[in-house]
Amino acid sequence: MPEWGLLLLLFAAIAIGYALGRIDRERKRRKKAENLSQEYFVGLNYLLNDQPDEAIETFIRALDITSESAETFETRITLGRLYGRRGEIERAIQVHQGLLAKPSLSYQQSLRVQLELARDYLSAGLLDRAEALLRDIAKAENSIRYDALKLLLDVYQQEKEWQRAIDVARQLLSRDEGYYRNRMTHFFCELAELSLQRREYHDARERLQQALQADRNSVRASLLMGAMEYEQANYRAANKALQRIAQQDPEFVSESVPLLVKVDRKLGRFQSISGYLNRCLKEHPSTAVMLAIAEGIHRSSGSNRASRFIVNQLVRRPSLKGLYGLIDLHLEQLEGSSRENLGLLANLVSRVIDSKPVYRCGQCGFSGKELHWQCPSCKEWGAVKPIRGIEGQ
Ligand SMILES: [Zn+2]
Repeated sequence: MPEWGLLLLLFAAIAIGYALGRIDRERKRRKKAENLSQEYFVGLNYLLNDQPDEAIETFIRALDITSESAETFETRITLGRLYGRRGEIERAIQVHQGLLAKPSLSYQQSLRVQLELARDYLSAGLLDRAEALLRDIAKAENSIRYDALKLLLDVYQQEKEWQRAIDVARQLLSRDEGYYRNRMTHFFCELAELSLQRREYHDARERLQQALQADRNSVRASLLMGAMEYEQANYRAANKALQRIAQQDPEFVSESVPLLVKVDRKLGRFQSISGYLNRCLKEHPSTAVMLAIAEGIHRSSGSNRASRFIVNQLVRRPSLKGLYGLIDLHLEQLEGSSRENLGLLANLVSRVIDSKPVYRCGQCGFSGKELHWQCPSCKEWGAVKPIRGIEGQ
């Protein structure tokens, strides 16, 4: 065969090889795309059936297939995030760090990856690293700074850096004023509690005033103010702070009653709170208020009238604590075996009361015996309230 013939054959072989390669690549690409869309719909189905774990698993599988060939920014970001959701934080960090090392990233893309990385650090409990990254992103002059500020607020809450949390919440007021004002109020109250522990009353008073400026319906600030003024023997001021609560949030009046009664004893004029308590009982009845009124009647008019009052109230609004109060009132008048029998009943009712939770979170349903201003379960502020009804207030 002449030399040109050989060259032609060689050229044809190369061309056919290239074309076959292209066809093969195209076929593979199409197959991957088909796989991806199939996995996508499988994942979507899991999501619709409320099976998020299975959905994440499917999406990760689908993205792993695509990212080998068509590695795009969005697929990597999503893959990292899915690892994070599955709790594989180290793999999420690897994906995000790998992405951040790419020189082709735009400024906006780089900010997004840094935000994802900060989210990973936060999940891994690496608060210092998350904080450093987020502070940088928060300097950016576009809307991503608000996402960074929201995460930064989480960091400062976990670190109990309340003043910093206040500064961040203030920058977020334009996003949702009511929501962030509520948080700021609680952060001011946290600072006030720290000052109270150190007996720095001047500072505590200033913090509580700031809390009330941020939200004038802050029950927590009023309760703290009442306790602080009582401790400093400013009984009139304590009385005023505590009586604000009926307007702020009547569900918390029961919380203020024990201190209010103590304040009133110091002021030496029971009539002063009886008007307030009777108003509360009428507008927003609770067992704590009812028993405080009964105690006043007991002292002024004797146990028979107090007992009649409690019975009348229990008919309208039965409660275990009310029943216990009634039994307690009768116990002191009895002697011998009658006293013993009623004592047994008192003990039984008291054990039933002790077995019940006192507070419940309106957000997630968490319940317990302690009043948490931030729910330990869902982390919502001010959502835990006294339980009402037959087993509660
Ligand atoms: Zn909760």
